[in-house]
Amino acid sequence: MATALITGASRGVGKATAKLFAKAGWDLLLVARSKSDLASLSQELSNTGRKISYKSIDLSEPETISPGLLELLDQDICPSVLINNAGVAWTGDLLKMPLKSWQWLIQMNLTSVFQVCSTVVPLMRDKGGLVINVSSHAARNAFNQWGSYCASKAALASFTKCLAEEESANGIRACTLTLGSVNTPLWDTETVKSNFDRSAMLSSEQAASALLYLAEQPSSQLIEDLTLMPSAGAF
Ligand code: NAP
Repeated sequence: MATALITGASRGVGKATAKLFAKAGWDLLLVARSKSDLASLSQELSNTGRKISYKSIDLSEPETISPGLLELLDQDICPSVLINNAGVAWTGDLLKMPLKSWQWLIQMNLTSVFQVCSTVVPLMRDKGGLVINVSSHAARNAFNQWGSYCASKAALASFTKCLAEEESANGIRACTLTLGSVNTPLWDTETVKSNFDRSAMLSSEQAASALLYLAEQPSSQLIEDLTLMPSAGAF
């Protein structure tokens, strides 16, 4: 049975994705900080009969990422699909952003993805596999007050293309899911100030369906990027 590793699985898009994948017959390796949220999700999914493993890893702490992942993978389970979904946002004047906040956001949205891929992809090469990086419409646009987020997601999209180019010889495919606004707890986080209409956003379940669609593509083809927008467009 195929296994997917999902980061940021404790809530929002990642949690909806874990639920949908388990229902579709996937075994799961789940990562986020909140051990209690991962434990209750794993409990909730126990009736699917799938094997669900999880590990609390703080992706903002570079030195904990590889050891944490290797512990999670130390059960002879190797994912065939790696979904780098965890991400954060920060709103405010670009040039007034504290350096520490900038470094945190870049660590979370870009560097941690590099670190997760560096640890997990070499283990996937034997059987081949797919890396899906969750990007944003912000990658292709300049949104006032969202500069660092736009820059981080643009860099992530470029990283993904480079990864696909380099790893294709090893049987690894890589793609992005580019999302417009999704109604998730991200909009309630301390670092985000916005009054967008949440009812007009995509649901986490819609984003999860797009991830399952990408994950289920045959290995002979690659959808390099799938862009999913709410029909209301960008806010
Ligand atoms: P969310 O509801 O805020 O969930 C974020 C997830 O990332 C949570 O599971 C959280 O779990 C995890 N996370 C946060 N900080 C972490 C850390 N330091 N270490 C490990 N895990 C951490 O966000 P979402 O809206 O579902 O976003 C998922 C992805 O979609 C992100 O990459 C985001 O940029 C992208 N996206 C979102 C939207 C949107 O409108 N929501 C639009 C486009 C793209 P813990 O707190 O338990 O660690």
